[in-house]
Amino acid sequence: MKRRDFFTNSLFAGGALTTGALGVHCNGKIEPKPFSGEVAINSGLSEPNFIREPEREIKIFTRTDILVIGGGPSGAAAAIAASKTGADTWLIERYNHLGGLWTGGMVLPLYSTHAVDRNNKKVQVMKGVGNEIWQRLKSIGGAIYDVDPVIDPEAGKYVIERMVIEAGVKILYHTLATNVIMSGETLKGVFIENKSGRSVILAKVVIDCSGDGDIFHLAGENYDTINGNIGLVHRLGNIDKINKKEPGYEQFAKLIGKDEAISVGRETPIPGVNWNNMHGKDDQDGTDALNLTNLQIEFRHKIWNNFQNIKKTPGYKDVFLLDTASQLGVRVSRIVDAEYKLTLEDTMTFKQFDDVIGISGAWTTILYKGGKITKQSRPLWQIPLRSLVPKKIEGLLVAGRCFCYEKELLEDARIIATCLITGQGAGVAAGISVKENEKTRNINIEKLNKELTNQNVYLG
Ligand SMILES: Cc1cc2nc3c(=O)[nH]c(=O)nc-3n(C[C@H](O)[C@H](O)[C@H](O)COP(=O)(O)OP(=O)(O)OC[C@H]3O[C@@H](n4cnc5c(N)ncnc54)[C@H](O)[C@@H]3O)c2cc1C
Repeated sequence: MKRRDFFTNSLFAGGALTTGALGVHCNGKIEPKPFSGEVAINSGLSEPNFIREPEREIKIFTRTDILVIGGGPSGAAAAIAASKTGADTWLIERYNHLGGLWTGGMVLPLYSTHAVDRNNKKVQVMKGVGNEIWQRLKSIGGAIYDVDPVIDPEAGKYVIERMVIEAGVKILYHTLATNVIMSGETLKGVFIENKSGRSVILAKVVIDCSGDGDIFHLAGENYDTINGNIGLVHRLGNIDKINKKEPGYEQFAKLIGKDEAISVGRETPIPGVNWNNMHGKDDQDGTDALNLTNLQIEFRHKIWNNFQNIKKTPGYKDVFLLDTASQLGVRVSRIVDAEYKLTLEDTMTFKQFDDVIGISGAWTTILYKGGKITKQSRPLWQIPLRSLVPKKIEGLLVAGRCFCYEKELLEDARIIATCLITGQGAGVAAGISVKENEKTRNINIEKLNKELTNQNVYLG
């Protein structure tokens, strides 16, 4: 191989970064290289507990302007928004669909679409990409309700995928981002792994929409870790066939609300099909694979047993378990340390930011300054770009449930509408950064504002 070809087609894992001028797109096939037992570290122990991975060449899968990791609400919105600015954009997703927990996790209600403005008027704050997804779903019968809609997960996967493709984004499914390529404190690209092997995508800006902040974690950014509730959502069918005249009905109906896992859930756009949330324990680590496995097994068992009890109840014999979600429901894990930590106080006081990227609402009733503020009366709140810009690492933006906010804001910041809004904001900011050849933290705020407005984002 010629020296030039070598530098444009491969990287040494762990070695220095080389950036060739040519865009190289390999065929996705990675040469197999068996792992040699000889590289096992002789640590002096009879059974060493680690081995050292040998240095090897890694093919460059592609080069792109913007690389979005994770195809949840934030990732899909980020990719669409970035591509609409004219930037070459790739979207990497470990599963086979877009929408993340919203679709694959079957967390179907899109909360916080509306909030109260300064004139005490309820207004729709979730516009832009999120609103387009909602309106398209509504037009095909895939969403119910005029505020905080509940969607059908399969319709959601379909509509989001169509919108991402129409925007010109290139999708790579069945692919996990596993490591980062750094040049000092600047992120230059990401290692990916899939059935084709291990390869690299080099990007001018990476947007971490993994939910768990996998990329900022690997890049060495600081962050907070919060253990929270993990649950598994499921759906039941034939709810419309429940016979309310049977003697078991009354007795069972009393249980509903006392133990959420044994309820028949809440309605979805499909008549007779309900979705059923699960709260789970509040101290769970969402980044520990063994813990996730144990919870998955425990929850499937619990849902199956509850379903058996439902079916045995007179009046409920036709109810069936339609499905359990393909994505386990991790509510929170890592929260990035960015240039600004958004506070609950900011959200209660109409705090204004010159680098506002969107406006969200709140869905929780809270105690604030001695008074109870209901979710219906919570004010709209601005989200600044600086809460998506990591403090240390360049070439990286963070959107979705792991952007930078204080713990008191968790319930409202992690909600789907907020994720769609931060995703779109990050996508637009990344696009401007590429176009202007400027660091994401230094982009021109007027241009940011103009492009967000062009993309129908509500800025107040
Ligand atoms: C049980 C439960 C109930 C909830 N109820 C509601 C509700 O009723 N209403 C509401 O608005 N919100 C609700 N939420 C919150 C909301 O669903 C999430 O916070 C939101 O979906 C987060 O969006 P996101 O884009 O940040 O991440 P996610 O939706 O988690 O999407 C992240 C995506 O990235 C992919 N990914 C992760 N790591 C990698 C990697 N290394 N490489 C490649 N791909 C990767 C994942 O597969 C996933 O598709 C609930 C959450 C849970 C868990």
